[in-house]
Amino acid sequence: MKCGRIDLACTKCRLSKGRTKVVPGDGPCDSAILFVGEAPGRDEDLSGRPFVGRGGRLLDKALERAGVAREQVRITNLVKCRPPGNRRPRKDEVSICTSLYLMGEIESVKPRVVCALGQTAAEQLAGRKVQMGASVGKEIPHSLPVKGVRLFVAYHPAACLYQRRNLDEFEKGVQAALQAAGLATGKRR
Ligand code: URA
Repeated sequence: MKCGRIDLACTKCRLSKGRTKVVPGDGPCDSAILFVGEAPGRDEDLSGRPFVGRGGRLLDKALERAGVAREQVRITNLVKCRPPGNRRPRKDEVSICTSLYLMGEIESVKPRVVCALGQTAAEQLAGRKVQMGASVGKEIPHSLPVKGVRLFVAYHPAACLYQRRNLDEFEKGVQAALQAAGLATGKRR
């Protein structure tokens, strides 16, 4: 579902040159929570949907274990086009894309909670450096232009693909954000 403005033919930054599809946010426009990842990867670039690859399956699993269906939540990224070779999106790309699209998406959804997945999203949304170890599963200050929204931090699911011991911490972070949004009880399944 489209929430806020998105231009599927956008050419405002260099990421447009290498993409297959723009990857807009996905999920209900009245979701109580908005998960924000870094950037689409290969599977997302091909399908046009966020978090559908291996990392996405870990996110689905974390939601399921918290008793929440993926269809209940909105999921998006800082940038809507895949960076070449899955490199980190650059500062100017993030700044162009978030001011054109993500800020409008947050204003349109008005979620109770924004959950940053990973350090890049956390730092961009917080507007400052974030120590992940001290911040996952917690609320952190931000300067997002939406009244009352709370910013939570979770690890990026990709961090669990090669370090399975991060999986529990990832799920705890997702769970804490869901709970703050009123979508989950404290129990994991
Ligand atoms: N990683 C992200 O940050 N976003 C996606 O959509 C997929 C993988």
